Amino acid sequence: MHFDIITIFPEFFSGIFSNGVVKRALANGLIEVGLHDLRNFTHDRHRTVDDRPFGGGEGMVLKPEPLVAAVESTGIGPRAERDAARESVILLSAQGARFTQAVARELARLDRVVLLCGRYEGVDERVNELVCDRELSIGDYVLSGGELGAAVIVDATMRLIPGVLGNEASSAYESFGHADAEFAGDADGPPRSAHGSPPRSTHGAGGLLDYPHYTRPAEFRGLAVPEVLAGGDHAAIRKWRRERALEKTFRNRPDLLEGAELSREDRSFLHKLATIEKTSG
Ligand code: SAH
Repeated sequence: MHFDIITIFPEFFSGIFSNGVVKRALANGLIEVGLHDLRNFTHDRHRTVDDRPFGGGEGMVLKPEPLVAAVESTGIGPRAERDAARESVILLSAQGARFTQAVARELARLDRVVLLCGRYEGVDERVNELVCDRELSIGDYVLSGGELGAAVIVDATMRLIPGVLGNEASSAYESFGHADAEFAGDADGPPRSAHGSPPRSTHGAGGLLDYPHYTRPAEFRGLAVPEVLAGGDHAAIRKWRRERALEKTFRNRPDLLEGAELSREDRSFLHKLATIEKTSG
């Protein structure tokens, strides 16, 4: 998969792409990243990329000509001729649709993605209209530039490309994972558990947050690893992990519970949590 990033700070990415999984994916040729300095697409002595806003107001706006020229230089075709199943030009923007794990999964199926990083007050809107397929925000806050957003999108997307993570299950069974949860049965049926097979190292899935993880030492500063994890009872471990995932989601992201696949047991556990909450709070 090929990413192109258009930015006034190409050096911003040097640390981000030279560590860990991204570094390995680049070295293995599973992904390629082209960094394009927006100033190379200007024609004046000062390499001007910004100008004052029409209508007045704060700050500066990125001019359309260099951005459009930079997108065209990547070799991606004009918007009307693009194959949406293969390629996409994305504008990083606080006004964009929310970038989520589901969007990362969509992008991971493409061959190439061009990412445009805004700066200052943003980007001349005609760039969006003329060359972008989608406008994405990485969260409900305002950053000083699109570079962190582009890095977030490259990272979250590339780790879903087959072969990038050693173990394919790693990305399926984590927070926001899409794999069938072993425990989430039909809405009100009994949980489907894979008897006999060892519990997965990560589970999450079914729209819940991941459960908490522990490694050695078994005791650290007076805190012991939960007893059930040290034993070999796989069914008990699965149940414990499912309940902790439910509990974390209930406490940190209750909004996710609405879209989660929940078994009857899950629901009764959540009901218990809510009751404890009410009586203690
Ligand atoms: N005036 C704009 C913010 C501009 S911030 C507004 O109020 O919406 C400058 C640049 O940072 C933007 O052009 C965009 O590329 C990037 N940026 C800021 N917040 C972002 C976010 N939440 N997600 C993705 N990109 C963001």
